[in-house]
Amino acid sequence: MSTCGACSGTGKVTCSACGGRQHTSRLTASGEVDISPCIVCYGTGRMRCDFCGGRGRIGSEEPAPVRPRGPRERATDVLAGNWYDPQNNYFLIVKQGGAYTLTGHGGLGQTATGTATLSGNLVRLDITDVVVGRYTVELRLSGDTMQGTIRVMGFPMPLVLTRH
Ligand SMILES: [Zn+2]
Ligand SMILES: [Zn+2]
Repeated sequence: MSTCGACSGTGKVTCSACGGRQHTSRLTASGEVDISPCIVCYGTGRMRCDFCGGRGRIGSEEPAPVRPRGPRERATDVLAGNWYDPQNNYFLIVKQGGAYTLTGHGGLGQTATGTATLSGNLVRLDITDVVVGRYTVELRLSGDTMQGTIRVMGFPMPLVLTRH
Protein backbone atom coordinates (compact mmCIF):
# COMPACT_ATOMS: atom_id res chain seq x y z
CA MET A 1 0.00 0.00 0.00
CA SER A 2 1.21 3.48 -0.84
CA THR A 3 -0.35 6.89 -1.01
CA CYS A 4 -1.94 7.70 -4.33
CA GLY A 5 0.16 10.29 -6.13
CA ALA A 6 -2.71 11.47 -8.31
CA CYS A 7 -4.82 12.74 -5.42
CA SER A 8 -2.16 12.96 -2.71
CA GLY A 9 -4.07 10.43 -0.71
CA THR A 10 -7.30 12.40 -0.50
CA GLY A 11 -9.14 10.09 -2.87
CA LYS A 12 -10.50 13.16 -4.68
CA VAL A 13 -9.22 15.17 -7.57
CA THR A 14 -10.33 18.41 -9.16
CA CYS A 15 -13.43 17.83 -11.22
CA SER A 16 -12.43 17.55 -14.83
CA ALA A 17 -15.86 18.70 -16.07
CA CYS A 18 -15.93 22.04 -14.29
CA GLY A 19 -12.25 22.41 -13.57
CA GLY A 20 -13.08 22.80 -9.89
CA ARG A 21 -15.34 25.81 -10.42
CA GLN A 22 -18.25 23.72 -9.18
CA HIS A 23 -20.56 24.88 -11.94
CA THR A 24 -20.76 24.81 -15.64
CA SER A 25 -21.87 27.54 -17.91
CA ARG A 26 -23.33 27.27 -21.33
CA LEU A 27 -24.96 29.57 -23.75
CA THR A 28 -28.65 29.10 -24.09
CA ALA A 29 -30.51 29.47 -27.32
CA SER A 30 -31.48 32.99 -26.31
CA GLY A 31 -27.85 33.95 -25.92
CA GLU A 32 -27.84 34.02 -22.19
CA VAL A 33 -25.22 32.31 -20.15
CA ASP A 34 -26.83 29.58 -18.14
CA ILE A 35 -24.92 28.69 -15.05
CA SER A 36 -25.78 25.48 -13.32
CA PRO A 37 -24.13 23.29 -10.72
CA CYS A 38 -21.75 20.80 -12.23
CA ILE A 39 -23.56 17.57 -12.65
CA VAL A 40 -20.34 15.56 -12.63
CA CYS A 41 -19.16 16.63 -9.18
CA TYR A 42 -22.57 17.65 -7.84
CA GLY A 43 -21.27 21.15 -7.38
CA THR A 44 -18.42 20.17 -5.14
CA GLY A 45 -15.65 20.83 -7.66
CA ARG A 46 -14.04 17.58 -6.71
CA MET A 47 -14.51 14.16 -8.11
CA ARG A 48 -13.43 10.72 -7.20
CA CYS A 49 -9.88 9.91 -8.08
CA ASP A 50 -10.01 7.28 -10.76
CA PHE A 51 -6.45 6.32 -10.25
CA CYS A 52 -6.99 4.91 -6.79
CA GLY A 53 -10.73 4.46 -6.97
CA GLY A 54 -11.23 7.11 -4.26
CA ARG A 55 -9.33 5.17 -1.62
CA GLY A 56 -6.35 7.50 -1.63
CA ARG A 57 -4.05 4.54 -1.56
CA ILE A 58 -2.62 2.27 -4.18
CA GLY A 59 -2.17 -1.40 -3.72
CA SER A 60 -4.14 -4.27 -2.43
CA GLU A 61 -5.93 -4.09 0.89
CA GLU A 62 -5.93 -7.84 1.04
CA PRO A 63 -3.04 -9.67 2.57
CA ALA A 64 -1.19 -11.72 0.01
CA PRO A 65 -3.36 -14.73 -0.71
CA VAL A 66 -2.21 -17.77 1.16
CA ARG A 67 -1.27 -20.51 -1.20
CA PRO A 68 -3.54 -23.45 -0.50
CA ARG A 69 -1.59 -26.19 1.15
CA GLY A 70 -1.28 -29.03 -1.22
CA PRO A 71 -0.58 -32.54 -0.19
CA ARG A 72 2.41 -32.78 2.07
CA GLU A 73 5.52 -32.29 0.05
CA ARG A 74 6.87 -35.69 -0.67
CA ALA A 75 10.40 -36.52 -0.02
CA THR A 76 12.13 -36.56 -3.34
CA ASP A 77 13.38 -40.08 -2.83
CA VAL A 78 11.42 -43.21 -1.94
CA LEU A 79 13.93 -44.27 0.66
CA ALA A 80 15.73 -41.18 1.90
CA GLY A 81 14.45 -39.76 5.13
CA ASN A 82 13.93 -40.48 8.80
CA TRP A 83 12.41 -43.90 9.50
CA TYR A 84 11.03 -44.31 12.98
CA ASP A 85 10.30 -47.49 14.85
CA PRO A 86 7.51 -47.60 17.46
CA GLN A 87 10.03 -46.82 20.21
CA ASN A 88 10.94 -43.61 18.42
CA ASN A 89 14.38 -44.79 17.48
CA TYR A 90 15.02 -43.97 13.90
CA PHE A 91 17.22 -44.64 10.94
CA LEU A 92 18.31 -41.69 8.89
CA ILE A 93 18.74 -42.89 5.33
CA VAL A 94 20.69 -40.64 3.01
CA LYS A 95 21.19 -41.12 -0.68
CA GLN A 96 24.73 -40.55 -1.77
CA GLY A 97 25.58 -40.97 -5.40
CA GLY A 98 23.16 -43.79 -6.12
CA ALA A 99 23.81 -45.65 -2.87
CA TYR A 100 22.09 -45.32 0.46
CA THR A 101 23.87 -44.96 3.74
CA LEU A 102 22.12 -45.05 7.05
CA THR A 103 22.70 -44.06 10.61
CA GLY A 104 20.66 -45.38 13.50
CA HIS A 105 19.65 -43.04 16.28
CA GLY A 106 18.20 -43.82 19.65
CA GLY A 107 17.93 -42.27 23.06
CA LEU A 108 21.71 -42.43 23.44
CA GLY A 109 22.41 -40.71 20.17
CA GLN A 110 23.80 -42.44 17.14
CA THR A 111 23.75 -46.18 17.73
CA ALA A 112 24.33 -47.67 14.32
CA THR A 113 25.73 -47.15 10.87
CA GLY A 114 25.12 -49.06 7.72
CA THR A 115 23.85 -49.13 4.21
CA ALA A 116 20.49 -49.65 2.59
CA THR A 117 19.73 -51.16 -0.77
CA LEU A 118 16.46 -51.07 -2.60
CA SER A 119 15.34 -53.64 -5.14
CA GLY A 120 11.76 -53.38 -6.21
CA ASN A 121 9.91 -52.70 -3.00
CA LEU A 122 12.32 -54.71 -0.92
CA VAL A 123 14.66 -52.77 1.28
CA ARG A 124 17.71 -54.44 2.72
CA LEU A 125 19.40 -52.75 5.63
CA ASP A 126 22.93 -53.76 6.54
CA ILE A 127 23.37 -52.40 10.00
CA THR A 128 26.29 -52.29 12.35
CA ASP A 129 24.88 -51.58 15.76
CA VAL A 130 27.02 -50.53 18.69
CA VAL A 131 25.15 -52.98 20.94
CA VAL A 132 24.11 -55.99 18.89
CA GLY A 133 26.77 -55.82 16.22
CA ARG A 134 26.19 -56.40 12.57
CA TYR A 135 22.88 -57.62 11.27
CA THR A 136 20.76 -57.48 8.16
CA VAL A 137 17.08 -56.65 7.85
CA GLU A 138 14.83 -57.04 4.88
CA LEU A 139 11.77 -54.86 4.86
CA ARG A 140 8.95 -54.41 2.43
CA LEU A 141 8.54 -50.80 1.39
CA SER A 142 5.08 -49.36 0.92
CA GLY A 143 4.93 -45.59 0.71
CA ASP A 144 6.07 -44.18 4.03
CA THR A 145 6.06 -47.53 5.78
CA MET A 146 8.46 -50.45 5.63
CA GLN A 147 7.96 -53.59 7.57
CA GLY A 148 9.50 -56.97 7.99
CA THR A 149 11.15 -59.17 10.50
CA ILE A 150 14.30 -58.53 12.40
CA ARG A 151 16.26 -61.27 14.17
CA VAL A 152 17.31 -60.25 17.60
CA MET A 153 19.56 -62.80 19.29
CA GLY A 154 18.10 -65.40 16.98
CA PHE A 155 14.48 -64.57 17.64
CA PRO A 156 12.38 -63.07 14.88
CA MET A 157 10.76 -59.80 15.85
CA PRO A 158 8.43 -57.78 13.68
CA LEU A 159 9.83 -54.43 12.71
CA VAL A 160 7.81 -51.56 11.31
CA LEU A 161 9.42 -48.32 10.33
CA THR A 162 7.47 -45.27 9.30
CA ARG A 163 8.90 -42.24 7.64
CA HIS A 164 8.14 -38.89 9.30
ZN1 LIG B 1 -6.06 8.87 -5.93
ZN1 LIG C 1 -17.47 19.44 -11.53
